[in-house]
Amino acid sequence: MTKKLPKVPVVIVGMGWAGGIIASELTKAGIKVVGLERGKARKTSDYYMVHDELRYAQRYEMMKDLSKETLTFRNTENMRALPMRTYGTFLDGIGTGGAGSHWNGQTYRFLPYDFEIATKTKEKYGKNKIPDGMDLQDWGITYDDLEPYYDTFEKMAGISGEEVSLYGKRSNPYPTKPMLKTPVLEMFEKATKKLGYSPYMTPSANLSENYTNPDGIARGACQYCAFCERFGCEYGAKADPVVTVLPVAEKTGKLEVRTYSNVTKILHDGNKATGVHYVNPVTREEFEQPADVVVLSSYVFNNTKLLLVSNLGKPYDSKTGQGVIGKNYCYQITGGSTLGFFKDKFNIYAGAGALGMEIPEFTGDNFDHSDLDFIHGAGIRMFQYGNRPIANNVVPEGTKAWGKEFKQTSIKYANSWLKVAVQGASMPWRTNYLDLDPNYTDEYGVPLLRMTYDYTNQDRKLTEFMAKKTGPIMKEMGAEITETQNNLEPLDISPYINTHNTGGVIMGDDPNTSAVNKYLQMWDAENVFVAGASAFPHNSSFNPTGTLGALSYLSAEGIIKYMKNGGSLV
Ligand SMILES: Cc1cc2nc3c(=O)[nH]c(=O)nc-3n(C[C@H](O)[C@H](O)[C@H](O)COP(=O)(O)OP(=O)(O)OC[C@H]3O[C@@H](n4cnc5c(N)ncnc54)[C@H](O)[C@@H]3O)c2cc1C
Ligand code: SF4
Repeated sequence: MTKKLPKVPVVIVGMGWAGGIIASELTKAGIKVVGLERGKARKTSDYYMVHDELRYAQRYEMMKDLSKETLTFRNTENMRALPMRTYGTFLDGIGTGGAGSHWNGQTYRFLPYDFEIATKTKEKYGKNKIPDGMDLQDWGITYDDLEPYYDTFEKMAGISGEEVSLYGKRSNPYPTKPMLKTPVLEMFEKATKKLGYSPYMTPSANLSENYTNPDGIARGACQYCAFCERFGCEYGAKADPVVTVLPVAEKTGKLEVRTYSNVTKILHDGNKATGVHYVNPVTREEFEQPADVVVLSSYVFNNTKLLLVSNLGKPYDSKTGQGVIGKNYCYQITGGSTLGFFKDKFNIYAGAGALGMEIPEFTGDNFDHSDLDFIHGAGIRMFQYGNRPIANNVVPEGTKAWGKEFKQTSIKYANSWLKVAVQGASMPWRTNYLDLDPNYTDEYGVPLLRMTYDYTNQDRKLTEFMAKKTGPIMKEMGAEITETQNNLEPLDISPYINTHNTGGVIMGDDPNTSAVNKYLQMWDAENVFVAGASAFPHNSSFNPTGTLGALSYLSAEGIIKYMKNGGSLV
């Protein structure tokens, strides 16, 4: 039997970056918030024994259990989608902090071009530059509108970085200086400068120095321990909702976090939400939590799934192109990178999740696309994450994958290989989308989300172009063997790529083509706000969290306005 609880002003579903930022801003404004989180509570002290690669990086200690809930995947509409049973391409967060506890901390802003991509592309290259089937659209907000919120996010997290002249204007420098430039990063810097580029240290949420943020939260500097991506940080040096926004919200006494609370439905009366239904996954008790405002911050996949199973908003139909929930799902393009094997050994067993350099020349529209068969671009970058022993037995092509030859070669090249990597933008296509699977359900009998996604000609052309840039950089760095990935196979969800999923509940200024306005308020349900990268109408070449963090600050401002005045905010 479902237990009905007393009504609260705001219920937030999911306590990651998006939910944590909104909780912190609302509670600081004196608003009472209940945060429902399907996983357990986490603290920095949980990470004291964290340097266990097998447990955390290989067996996914901090990620959701896929046997209870997953998604189904197919490349194209004429394939049957099958459930993702083991982790690969992306790693879903669970527990307070969400994926913000085991992320790397690479914290970029998107370009001014990104927010007005459709208009700027047509203005510069004509409307025929956008091929049929690419559902490109502006975001309903400009970079300049969002800049103050980027600034707030960076100050809260203490982002370490340096200004880049080809990127959007900044109102303030980064709050902390860039991370240390290691010898291999100096090699990348020297080679790219020689080739005429302007390398810069990538912005990092791994603190380069001790820092106290405007909320009074003090954190220590990064130790370059190499156990960053897929791990929590025992020093609190990596910005994580658990060490930044959630303690601020909890200190107000206005936030009640209920862990082990899995929301299965948004309850509504017509087009106004009345609250949410949730289940304790351990005891199986069911609850109804009435609320004046419902905030979904349960990541791209669950934001989309919860709206679809709750019949809120119009589901996207790929045949007609009508409807908005599930539309414009995008991933990222990582083809075109070059691996280099060297004679020398480097100290690359040390490192950090966001310790790297990148060149800005091939991002966005920073280069002429007139004679190219694609738009947008990629970050060409080199990172030093720290080579943990299990995952880093990289050998040149043609080496046997087992036995004596593999062992000898992997020892020869241990800490002697480097990668000039590509992270490319992903454009929205009518045939790439999210909907409900007709065959498979989760542990509560709710349909699984189905992903239909494949790379397109645009992605293949981008890959070929970038491959021509990364090879010469690696050669200039002095590798004795180089291997460049020139082509792009259909997306295979078994190897890890990144957790940069976007779209499904996209923002815009037209209710016919977007699900939420710039405050992430639903056009079809004014008291529902949907925060996270689900709002991105396309995916840039940059990692998403800086942008979803900035949008969460803007959304919090909108929720506070809405609670005072009601109605649509735009
Ligand atoms: C290994 C890894 C490395 C990454 N590195 C970077 C990086 O360097 N830079 C970058 O920008 N991004 C990076 N990311 C991505 C980044 O972590 C995400 O963009 C960001 O954490 C998303 O924040 P969010 O609040 O939208 O979602 P999440 O962090 O996923 O939080 C959502 C929360 O909602 C909860 N939830 C979901 N469904 C329900 C439900 N039904 N009921 C209740 N609770 C629910 C989840 O348990 C989770 O805690 C990385 C991700 C991973 C996994
Ligand atoms: S590399 Fe730095 S930020 Fe990352 S976990 Fe180690 S100390 Fe923390």
